[in-house]
Amino acid sequence: MADKNLNEIQFNPVSAWETMDETKTKDVLNFGEGYIDFLNQVHTERQSADFIITKAKESGYDDFNDVITGKIKFVPGNKYYYCIHGKSVILAATGSEDPANGVNIVGSHIDAPRLDFKPNPFYEDNGFGYAKTHYYGGIKKYQWTAIPLMLKGVVFTNDGKKIDISIGDKPEDPMFTITDLLPHLAADQMKKGASEFIPAENLNILLGSMPLNDEEGNGSIKAYIINYLYEKYGIVQRDMATAEIEVVPAFKACSIGFDKSFTGGYGQDDRVCAYASLMGILDINEPLKKTAICYFSDKEEVGSMGNTGARSVAFNNFIAELCYAYDNKDSEIRTRRALASSNMLSADVSAGFDPNFAEAFDKTNCAYISRGVAMEKYTGSRGKSGASDANPEFIAKVVNIFNKAGVPWQISEMGRMDLGGGGTIAQFMADLGINIIDCGVPVLSMHAPFEVTSKADLYWTYKAYYEFMINM
Ligand code: MN
Ligand code: MN
Repeated sequence: MADKNLNEIQFNPVSAWETMDETKTKDVLNFGEGYIDFLNQVHTERQSADFIITKAKESGYDDFNDVITGKIKFVPGNKYYYCIHGKSVILAATGSEDPANGVNIVGSHIDAPRLDFKPNPFYEDNGFGYAKTHYYGGIKKYQWTAIPLMLKGVVFTNDGKKIDISIGDKPEDPMFTITDLLPHLAADQMKKGASEFIPAENLNILLGSMPLNDEEGNGSIKAYIINYLYEKYGIVQRDMATAEIEVVPAFKACSIGFDKSFTGGYGQDDRVCAYASLMGILDINEPLKKTAICYFSDKEEVGSMGNTGARSVAFNNFIAELCYAYDNKDSEIRTRRALASSNMLSADVSAGFDPNFAEAFDKTNCAYISRGVAMEKYTGSRGKSGASDANPEFIAKVVNIFNKAGVPWQISEMGRMDLGGGGTIAQFMADLGINIIDCGVPVLSMHAPFEVTSKADLYWTYKAYYEFMINM
């Protein structure tokens, strides 16, 4: 080949900070501030769903259930939200073209690792009042002791009333914690492997120590806790059976580093991609040919099971309803065609290379912080098992869109082979026939109570999702 230009034939992603001028850098840091605000407002999948629906409504989205029930007429070009049991959301900026020809989807998840109250949480022991928890998702249990914690969730009372519980982030609120053993007496504990030195049944939340001293003489600490919840929220102990209380870190999300180039905070896997895709779809103002969809799923951290997870038929149902709304023909084949012709980014985080743990990565095939949106061709473990391995003809189209828009991107694996592995919603969406690749923000300290991302990666991921939705 003549006129060879080495810069054109080599592919060496560099730090996105190096490629941005002062104005762009300011934009990126500003965008990061909005994200920090978001992280400080939402701590659960329900709160995330509410946030997404509020923003969508402000941008003119209608409830798609009103289309389904015939309350409003479906108009191609209009925008709709669809809520799945309060914990998962689909946003659709519809296009002029028949959705049976395929749609462009960005799919993230809004659940995050945490501790859930057990159905019978309260007990007391030697002068302490506690709540028992069951951990949710893949956590290093020792990271959840000796840090401030908040309670977030809902209780449905016997008469069907929904009560929001939120304790720990208002200045007057108390916080909670799980105690750990002092190092002076930890000789036995420290000999154990890290997965054993905090047993799961020790993840008990400290709730108080004062007994209730009421006239009836119910002088127990447990009674104090139950009485407190009754006085404050009108809920009785039995109502805990119909509650979802999540224990989450009480740290505020914030900028990290002298240059404020990072965001630190809880729940960034995967609310960083959820936020990027939400901002991306809300930016769409131009008329579209193909419908753009953002899917915010639940239960990803526990394998996407359940009727709010990506393995349920909820997403297919939405596509079926969308196809039906478009032409009022009840035809399963149109739904199948829609799915088989659709393209999707599985908007989930990847493991960012961490020099402190370099041995956990293949340095030539890992996602680097600040080098832009990170694609993972496959996840899984032990020889790509349990993975959707993205098709190159599809990746070529995605990369072409990113290149045209000047979006910095990188492609990687998750970590060194045979060390572990993981999965995303990609495999379940691929089962429906959708072309898909994992594509999101690299994260440090993933699944820890305080995770770290780069503001440059957040910004470029947001741009990547927007470009994908309007150009694919
Ligand atoms: Mn994730
Ligand atoms: Mn995860």
